Amino acid sequence: MAWRSHGQTNDELVDNLKAHNIIQHDEVEKAMKLVDRGLYTPHNQYMDAPQSIGYGATISAPHMHAYALELLHEQLKSGGKVLDVGSGSGYLSACFAMMVGEKGKVIGIEHVPNLVTQSIKNIEKHAPELIASGRVKISVGDGRKGYEPEAPYNAIHVGAAAEQGVPDELIKQLAPGGRMVIPVGNKLGMQALEQIDKLLDGQIVRQSLMDVMYVPLTDKDSQYTKW
Ligand code: SAH
Repeated sequence: MAWRSHGQTNDELVDNLKAHNIIQHDEVEKAMKLVDRGLYTPHNQYMDAPQSIGYGATISAPHMHAYALELLHEQLKSGGKVLDVGSGSGYLSACFAMMVGEKGKVIGIEHVPNLVTQSIKNIEKHAPELIASGRVKISVGDGRKGYEPEAPYNAIHVGAAAEQGVPDELIKQLAPGGRMVIPVGNKLGMQALEQIDKLLDGQIVRQSLMDVMYVPLTDKDSQYTKW
């Protein structure tokens, strides 16, 4: 079970996620071993639970990171282009970069400027070349609009729950053959993790995968007010 995947170290945490079949592909295991969660949050680093990173944001639970990487695994091949909306701590952006390799590119969009600065610092602690080379670019912005200049994306991950449905702009910025993983729903009720595929002919196929709990994809002021 997901909640039992705690470890004392990053390797132990990843081994437990694998033992519980949440991690299934070697590439996902490798990426999560290369990105030490301990560098991305000061508290309970290897506990399988979300942790506060300030500003009303959390670093998601390791099992949710693992699910996201598994669901997007086919799109995270070498050379892939990824958009990480609500990139928060930067943890998942770094994992995506490990999977898409030197020819790939990851764009993180986060609306809290301090989190953008912190996430870049976090990545630079262990992989400064990702930032220096531009393989990972994290910018301040409203992720509901995506990031047009680098579109289309093979994979789009949204780390906050879309209360008013899936933003059209994100669907537009998905490449044919691309996949988006996005929590959808009201924060007070149930949210569902949705997988949205854009087929090669442009057809959109949506699938609801599991109940989840994410912070809302919202405007900055209402996130700050609640914080
Ligand atoms: N994957 C990240 C999740 C962070 S929590 C991690 O594991 O670290 C979700 C993040 O989405 C928060 O940092 C929050 O500030 C951000 N967010 C919420 N609404 C947003 C919006 N409209 N545009 C950009 N970022 C947003």
